[in-house]
Amino acid sequence: MKDVAALYAHYQQCTAVSTDSRQAQEGTLFFALNGPSFRGRDFAPQALAKGARHAVVDDADLAATDPARYTYASDPLEALQQLAQYHRRQLTIPVLAITGSNGKTTTKELVNAVLSRRYRVQYTRGNLNNHIGVPLTLLSIRPEEHELAIVEMGANHQGEIALLSSIAEPTHGLITNIGKAHLEGFGGEEGVAKGKSELFQYLAAHDGTAFINTTDPKLPGLGAPVAKRVTYPNQGDTYPARLVTNNEATVSLFLFDNTLVEAQITGVYNFPNLAAAAAVGAHFEVPVADIAEALASYAPTNNRSQLVQTGRNTLVLDAYNANPSSMAAALASFVQRPGRAEDKVAILGDMFELGSESAAEHQALGVLLAGLPINTVVLCGQEMRHAAEASSAFHYFPTKGEATAWLQQQQLQGRQVLIKGSRGMGLETLTELL
Ligand code: ATP
Ligand code: MG
Repeated sequence: MKDVAALYAHYQQCTAVSTDSRQAQEGTLFFALNGPSFRGRDFAPQALAKGARHAVVDDADLAATDPARYTYASDPLEALQQLAQYHRRQLTIPVLAITGSNGKTTTKELVNAVLSRRYRVQYTRGNLNNHIGVPLTLLSIRPEEHELAIVEMGANHQGEIALLSSIAEPTHGLITNIGKAHLEGFGGEEGVAKGKSELFQYLAAHDGTAFINTTDPKLPGLGAPVAKRVTYPNQGDTYPARLVTNNEATVSLFLFDNTLVEAQITGVYNFPNLAAAAAVGAHFEVPVADIAEALASYAPTNNRSQLVQTGRNTLVLDAYNANPSSMAAALASFVQRPGRAEDKVAILGDMFELGSESAAEHQALGVLLAGLPINTVVLCGQEMRHAAEASSAFHYFPTKGEATAWLQQQQLQGRQVLIKGSRGMGLETLTELL
């Protein structure tokens, strides 16, 4: 759009920014974004009626009727992104971008817990990590209030992280890991590495600092072009950390100065996430005792790596999402949990967005499962039929409804149950039956 500065003047009069007319409240700046089956401008009057102060619409005639309340933009999404970038450029605070295949939100929450001990931090709420969520996060940063920002960046195709970086202009960046996620849009695992490397390329070109997880063989190479590198968690790294035990509910780790942290978060795959948060905290000079306390008190409530005691069973509730890498990590961690294999139950749903590799990845999962000490394997979803081929002992249900009916009959008691599947499967509803 032509006049971002004029739009910025409106933004400064507003108290919030929204793209959802239902959530518009008093003082909101509303962006009328178009969807696959609707035109955003149709919702603009509704947003204004609800109290929104100003609306950005792609309807020049409407904007001309009331210039005080409407700004015309041929592409409101682009206007949102430009405004966010403009705002970012007014800020002088460090911005840490977090991307990666798995563990972005968990790492972001942990980093926030640590940095909040010392700074006033603004951070991505929930999972608002895409081309709309990143601008909204940036526009929620208040110059008079925040000293640091953490921005989660998600991507499912090449060029997306480059775009988000150009908007957020991060001074620091962290890639959690490179795995098999969104294979369809990225074009295989190499494509994922290339896509995520766009963050490090941005940092290399702008004198930024990269946090590098040296447990992931791909990351040190990807980070090589960045001059300012902070490494974790191996020995010899800037901020080493060591996994000590993984007992019932917790991951324990020793930090760089031998401080022992007993985290409440479950799953050994969270070790690098915890170590990342410690490294970021140390880099920003949060005292180690505060880092340890922050990590120890973080307890997830978001269906990610959550340990739930239902009174009848112990659930490892990881139903938020799944892809081949996180599925393998969750299973490896689950079989390491103390307790008898006979009492272990895995309820797994389809992994989405795998494109042409879907059948093969589900088949490979079936083979993996057949070799694991898990007594009861329940598979649910259309794609899981490929996994089900690996063993006649598996219980396979094409739909969640059928799995639900079967579980209702079983009346499981005294079991440890892992629940994991892609977001669209919504397996968290099964917890009621367990
Ligand atoms: P999304 O792409 O949906 O934003 P995300 O990258 O933000 O996902 P989280 O929401 O933090 O990831 O975690 C999702 C799931 O990924 C967790 O519940 C867990 O099963 C798995 N996971 C988390 N951290 C790791 C890790 N370091 N390695 C492998 N799997 C992980
Ligand atoms: Mg996320």
